[in-house]
Order: sequence, then C-alpha cells, then structure tokens
Amino acid sequence: MKMNISITKTKNPKQKPDQNNLGFGTYFTDHMFIMDYTEGKGWHDPRIVPYAPLEMDPASMVFHYGQAIFEGLKAYKAKNGHILLFRPEKNMARVNSSNDRLVIPRIDEDFGVQAIKELVNVDSDWIPDAPGTSLYIRPFIIATDPFLGVRPSDTYKFIIILSPVGAYYKEGINPVKIYVESKYVRAVKGGLGFAKTVANYASSLKAQVEAKHSGYTQVLWLDGVEKKYIEEVGTMNVFFKIDGEVITPSLEGSILPGITRMSTIELLKKSGIKVTERRISIQELYDAHAAGKLDEAFGTGTAAVISPIGEFSWGEKVITVSNGKIGPVAQKVYDTITGIQNGELEDTFGWTQI
Ligand code: PMP
Repeated sequence: MKMNISITKTKNPKQKPDQNNLGFGTYFTDHMFIMDYTEGKGWHDPRIVPYAPLEMDPASMVFHYGQAIFEGLKAYKAKNGHILLFRPEKNMARVNSSNDRLVIPRIDEDFGVQAIKELVNVDSDWIPDAPGTSLYIRPFIIATDPFLGVRPSDTYKFIIILSPVGAYYKEGINPVKIYVESKYVRAVKGGLGFAKTVANYASSLKAQVEAKHSGYTQVLWLDGVEKKYIEEVGTMNVFFKIDGEVITPSLEGSILPGITRMSTIELLKKSGIKVTERRISIQELYDAHAAGKLDEAFGTGTAAVISPIGEFSWGEKVITVSNGKIGPVAQKVYDTITGIQNGELEDTFGWTQI
C-alpha cells in the first residue's frame, strides 16, 4: 500500500522525564500517528501530529460497545545508536487477527510497521538508553461512528502512541506468588481470548484486584468451561519445566498467541530443549510438584519478557517452584531475548528490525 504519512511537528516539545523513574505507561512522547477509516473509502489520511487529546462525539461506538483492539511492543536504542524493533510484523499480523474477530477492517500490515517506524523516528529522542529501559509502542483501533445501535461501526481511527518505560526488574528478577483463579474466567473458546480486544482486559480486572488484596501478584487463569486446564498467567503466557521437558498450553482459541511465547518456543527448540504445546491441567501441575518434578514455572510477555513464578496457591493447596528463585531455563530465555532486543547479542533469528 503506497500512502505518504504527513508529518506535523509540535511547536511545544515537552520536557523529557527522568530515565531512572519512568515506571510503565505514565509518560507520552511529543507525537502520535493517526489514520482514519471510512466505509467505501478505506483507510486514509495517515499522519503524524503533535500528541494531544482527541475530540470525540460522546456517542462514538467505542464508548458504548467496546469495539476496540490494541497492541504492545517495544523499541530499544542499541549501543551503536540503531533503533531496534522486536518482531513488529508479528504485532501487525495480530492486529488483523483481532480486527477480524471484532469486524474491524483489516490494515495493511507492512504499512502498519512503516507507520511505527516513522513515528518512532520522529520521537527518537524519547527512546531511553539506561539499562533495561525502552520505548513502549501502543497501536490501537477504535470505532468512531456516533451511533447507539449495536452493529459494527463504519468509521474507525488507528492510532499509535509511544511511552518511554523503565527497567522492569530494577531490583533483580524475583519470582512472584500466583493465585489459581477458580471463580472468574478470562476467556472461552468461541469468545475473544485469542484477540487483543479491550474487553478482555476489562473483564480481567475483578480477579486481579481480588488476588492483589489477598497478597498475590497475579492470577493463573484456567479454562472457562471445566476450570481445569491452565491457560495464562495475568497478562502473560505461561511455561512449565517438568521432568526436563518445557510445556506451554496449546493455543486453542481462548489464549492470546504471545509474541514472547512464540520467541521462547523458537529459542528453546533451537537450543535443543524439548518444548511441547499441549493442554496441561492444574492437577497435573500439582502432581508434578508433589513428585518433585516441577522444576520451573514462568510467564512470558512484552512488558517483563519473563516473570518467574515462585508459588501457586490453589484452594487449600500450595505449589512451590524452584525454591523461589529464577530457574536456568527462564534465565536463559530472559538473557537471550533481552540481549537480542537491545542489540547486545547477535540476532541469529532475524527478529529485530531497524
Ligand atoms: N496474554 C495476554 C492476555 C496479554 O495481554 C499478553 C501481552 N500482550 C500476552 C499474553 C503476551 O503477549 P506478548 O508476548 O505478545 O506480549
């Protein structure tokens, strides 16, 4: 798709935040990307403009029926000054998979990557370079018809905003405590689980808040029907090392196909470690632990890359892992993926784009 992106630079650049205190998703750069969709005309008017509030009709469909999807990925400033994006084409492919599910018109994936690159270049001064920091990229699409009937919108906005984010693990990687959720469910087959729709996150908040109140970092989601099979951990995919084999739940419609998950599988396979994608029940996890065969458990996702799990609380039962330390597989995956992302390791997989 040949479309020129017009660029209007801000006349009032903001002061940049302290790199040591960025946190996550708090600060936003000087510019944003916007393009519109109109039925009959397609996607049009791609532009980079100063970051500013949007003026929207209160009847815009997104406010009422949540027809909206989003993505998340990161840009890193390598030591040689190159700006590296980690597998952005996979995020743009997932945009279209989410779009299809919510009856949002597809975008041109190559153009989506180009839009990210142009925006990141315009705001390249905002990419932090302190160890562990990066520029988080948030593309999203919202339905904008001012209409209260329930049907897919005829107009949309595709927007990209950027946020410099801090090192996820400032004080070292510490395994977290997880509550096995048996009351609320995240997704069901035939529902929205495989898509990155805003509704999934709205529906997950209650469980997250209750788990936090009880002293857990996140919940382990079980399948929405039998509440038996393990699906995801918080907003991450989940991996276990049992008896020398790495196992992750297979994607069967209710699990988000994570790009870190995909990269972890490819990396482990290349290292000669056996990885299996299959259904795994919470009972099987408990039994493996009881037999002394549960060596590691960890989550994978863009924000933290790897999050080791030290303990699961399942009703009255407690499953402890790796004596509360990060295990060798999780450490290797973390070191390799973050090393490739920030340019310190050679990218033998061809994952990064400049
Ligand atoms: N599951 C859910 C529900 C998520 O929100 C995310 C974060 N996008 C993931 C898994 C991990 O996906 P990725 O590795 O692409 O960040």
